[in-house]
Amino acid sequence: MNFDGDFAMSIGGRTVATAATLPVVNPATGKAFAAAPDCGPEQLDDAVAAARAAFPAWRDLGPDGRSVLLKQAGDLLAAQAGPLKALLTREQGKPLDEAAAEVMGAAYWLKSFARMEIPVAVGQSIPGQRTETHQVPLGVVGAIAPWNFPLLLAFWKIAPALKAGNTVVVKPSPFTPLATLKAVELLQSVLPPGVLNAVSGGDELGPWLTGHPGIDKISFTGSTATGRRVMASAADRLKRITLELGGNDAAIVLPDIDVEAMAPKIFWSAFRNSGQICVATKRLYIHADIYDRLAAALVAQAARLPMGDGTVPGTRLGPVQNRRQFERVQEIVEDCRRQGHRFLCGGAIDGAQDGYFVPVTLVDDPPEASRVVQEEAFGPILPLLKFHDIDEAVARANECEYGLGGSVWSGDPARAQAVAQRLETGTVWINDVQALSPTVAFAGHKQSGIGVENGLDGLLEYCVPRTIVIPTVPPADTEH
Ligand code: NAD
Repeated sequence: MNFDGDFAMSIGGRTVATAATLPVVNPATGKAFAAAPDCGPEQLDDAVAAARAAFPAWRDLGPDGRSVLLKQAGDLLAAQAGPLKALLTREQGKPLDEAAAEVMGAAYWLKSFARMEIPVAVGQSIPGQRTETHQVPLGVVGAIAPWNFPLLLAFWKIAPALKAGNTVVVKPSPFTPLATLKAVELLQSVLPPGVLNAVSGGDELGPWLTGHPGIDKISFTGSTATGRRVMASAADRLKRITLELGGNDAAIVLPDIDVEAMAPKIFWSAFRNSGQICVATKRLYIHADIYDRLAAALVAQAARLPMGDGTVPGTRLGPVQNRRQFERVQEIVEDCRRQGHRFLCGGAIDGAQDGYFVPVTLVDDPPEASRVVQEEAFGPILPLLKFHDIDEAVARANECEYGLGGSVWSGDPARAQAVAQRLETGTVWINDVQALSPTVAFAGHKQSGIGVENGLDGLLEYCVPRTIVIPTVPPADTEH
């Protein structure tokens, strides 16, 4: 397979090119380096029709039969991690080793869901009858992914959807379609035609997919604003939805931590993938007693990090992924400047350079109401916020429309856990962040989402229960 060109959609087991194409830009250079298919409405109809046609046989293959193929799919993806990671770095910007981890993560998700059991609940609570509740697939799933972890987040949907017996039409972000298109094309050699289809296109394609009458469920990861539109579009036919949306995660740092030992981990909790992670630390609440020491340690950490093109060995931080996002982060930096907030480091963006690079920017205790605290910047900028007592820190952390993740940092895990239980978010990590697993439920509270990904709860989002009520006494005994 040519991983450098010939980017095509996969529909019904065939590779499909389009007359129209969309340029894909390398964020490290700001220049287009490839062309992706631009799917029209007829081709989307073909993809949905192929998925519908493939559904009955895939469903009837049963969980064990599907597991064998999903495991093979995971192995195949892992075997092609080399070329896939290179492609991912070029379109997304992240360093090569992080791109490799993302590809391996996608493979791991496939193999983990291959192993997961779909439970059958048996009950006796109706006299003379036994009940069996089976989890059956919904039909065709439309999977929509964002640009920060394009491949991994697509497979967070593909793996459980396929395991449950659904077929899939996946749509990557127009900013990062390439690795997903190649991965899906690769998997056509393992999966029956039409089971997994990929389409790519511009801004109209998402709404076409969510509004398509042949789609039974939408699984969406992206911004809260778009999530609202997806939900409205699904209402018409009561399509099932899973929405994983934005976050503005707070980290609360208690005064009993070993500051120098923890500083690098706290730094990376905010800046991995250049801050473009839904569960990155986006508000850092630090106890006043250690504020100055931790701030100095984070500044020292930032100064040591090479930022640049992710393909260059040694690069630890890549660019922001696209121009729109670059401008948004720039706007928040400018707002800090206008409001007179102090930068501990960063804050100066070189607008003349190629590529969308924003230096690591730490903002010194801006007011709680400022934009840099209240909005999800989704880039390498972090407000450090001083607190004096833990009740105040918890209240400020919870005063937020989002509720995706959060973390508590302390030398005393029991003390940290007591604080964790008070945070209104789907996940709270202690002395860590972003530890995620296919077997552990991940969900957003408040406006961070609806439904669950991962774990058994995540698998069951792709099923609907069917209860069969079976008489336990022979028909003759019930006749009068
Ligand atoms: P986005 O909402 O702009 O786009 C996400 C996807 O939706 C893209 O594929 C896009 O083409 C598509 N889309 C756009 N408009 C659509 C519409 N009207 N109908 C259907 N699809 C549409 O988000 P983004 O900028 O790609 O990603 C960044 C956001 O995603 C951040 O807010 C981040 O926090 C969030 N995110 C959340 C999670 C999570 O698991 N909760 C994970 C990663 C990213």
